[in-house]
Amino acid sequence: MAVPGRRVPDNAPHGLAESELFAVDAYLREFESAVSEVDAEQGRVALRRTAFFPGGGGQPFDIGTLEWADGSSEVTAPVTKVGRDRETGRIWHWLEGGHVPGPDAEVSGVLDWDRRHLTMRTHTALHILCGVIWSEFGLAVTGGNMDPGKGRLDFPFESMSTELGQQVERRINEEIDAAREILVDFVGREVADEDAALIRTSANLIPREIDPLRVIDIVGLDKQADGGTHVRTTGEVGRIRVTKTESKGKGNKRIRLEIVDA
Ligand SMILES: [Zn+2]
Repeated sequence: MAVPGRRVPDNAPHGLAESELFAVDAYLREFESAVSEVDAEQGRVALRRTAFFPGGGGQPFDIGTLEWADGSSEVTAPVTKVGRDRETGRIWHWLEGGHVPGPDAEVSGVLDWDRRHLTMRTHTALHILCGVIWSEFGLAVTGGNMDPGKGRLDFPFESMSTELGQQVERRINEEIDAAREILVDFVGREVADEDAALIRTSANLIPREIDPLRVIDIVGLDKQADGGTHVRTTGEVGRIRVTKTESKGKGNKRIRLEIVDA
C-alpha cells in the first residue's frame, strides 16, 4: 500500500518507477534524463525517463521545457505536446521550433507546474464527483473530459435539475473539507477482481495483460483504476463549483464543475 507523501509507492512496478516518473510521483516537476530516440523530422524526442504526463483518461498532456547543452551553449526548448505512441508505448515530446537535442544528449525537463498542479486538483475533483454520485445515487460514470481548472462527467440519471447540481456541489465540498487521504496503489488482477469498488468502476474492462493495475484510492470514497496524476488529499483540491447540469439525451446527464480559484 502506498503511503501519502512518499515519493515512490513500495509496490510500484520497477520499470514504471524508472521510466514513467509521473506514474509514481505526481509531485515531481523537474528531472534529468538521457535521450532515447530523436525524430528530427517531426521535431520530437523520446527520453529514458520522463515526468511529462502524455495524456490519457481525459487528463490533458503536460507542457513545459527541455534544456540541454549544444556545444558550449545551453538550449531551452518549449515542450508543446506530449503523447504516447499507441503501438510502441513510447512517449514523445514535441519541441517548439523543431530544435531537437542530439541522440547522446542529457536533458533537463521542467514541467509547467502551475498548469499540472491545477490539472491534478481538477482530476481529483472529478473522482470525488464519481464517489459522491455513487454513494448518493448508486450511479457509475459513463464518460467525461477535463481541462486544467474545469471538467465534466456524464452519469445515467433519468432526470437532472439545478437543485440536484447544488446538492452535488455541497457534497463534493464536504468531501474536500474532510481532507481524505489519496493513495496511489498497484493492485494485482486477482486481487482487483475481488474488490467491490474496482468492480463497480469497471476495472475488469481493462485488458488482462495490464497487471498490476494502477489504482487511485480516495480512502473511503472512491477507488478506480487510473493512469493520471492526483493531489495527496481532497483538501488540496480547494473549493469547487458545479457550473452547469445538462441533459445529453435519455438516461444521460452531464455535470460540469470548476475549481473556484483557478
Ligand atoms: Zn481519473
